[in-house]
Amino acid sequence: MTTCNETPTERVPGRAWTVRITGHSDRSATVSCSTPACRMPARSKDLAALRAFAARHAAAHAKAATVRPHAWCHCGSQGCAAHPETAAHCAGAVLLVLRHDPTVGRVWNVEEVCETCAPLLPNVTVLARATRPRRPTAQPTTAVPAARPAVPGGFSSPATGPAEAESRTATARRSRRAPQRARRRPGRNR
Ligand SMILES: [Zn+2]
Ligand SMILES: [Zn+2]
Ligand SMILES: [Zn+2]
Repeated sequence: MTTCNETPTERVPGRAWTVRITGHSDRSATVSCSTPACRMPARSKDLAALRAFAARHAAAHAKAATVRPHAWCHCGSQGCAAHPETAAHCAGAVLLVLRHDPTVGRVWNVEEVCETCAPLLPNVTVLARATRPRRPTAQPTTAVPAARPAVPGGFSSPATGPAEAESRTATARRSRRAPQRARRRPGRNR
C-alpha cells in the first residue's frame, strides 16, 4: 500500500535497465540484468539463444515500465557519457529508449531519457513516450487576468462619459426609426 503524496511535478531519477552478455574463457557466456531479482538462464555456449533471451528480457522490462513524465533524464544523470561528442541540455518530454549495438550484440540498455538526448544516443530505438504531464503549476501565470485598478487614474468627470453615450444611442435609435415610418406609410397607401 502506498500513500505517497508525491506531486506530479516532483522529479524522480530516470530508470535504466541493463541486460548484458558476458563471455567467458571457455567460450560460454552468461546473461545478467541490472535488476538482481530477475531470473537469468544458466551459463551456456549457445550465444544465439542467450542473445535472444537478452533482447526479449530488455523488451519485457520496457513493456512493463510506464514512462514517467516527471523523470529526470538518465543520460543526463550520467553526465551524458553516452554521447560525449554532442553536449546537450536535458529538456523536453521523457522517452523510453532501447540502446543496443547489434554489431557488438552484448548490451541492451532500456532507459528513461529526455527528448534532447534521445536522438544523440547511438543505436537508439524510441520505445515509448511519456504522456503529456498535467502540470497545474506550469500554466503561465500571465494568463490569469490582472486585478483591475480600483480607481482609474486621470478620469476627471466620470458622470459625463456614460450619460453622453446613452443620449447618443437614444438619438440614433430615434433617427433610425423616423425615416423608416415615413417611407413605409406612403408605400402602403399607394
Ligand atoms: Zn531484468
Ligand atoms: Zn545526454
Ligand atoms: Zn537528457
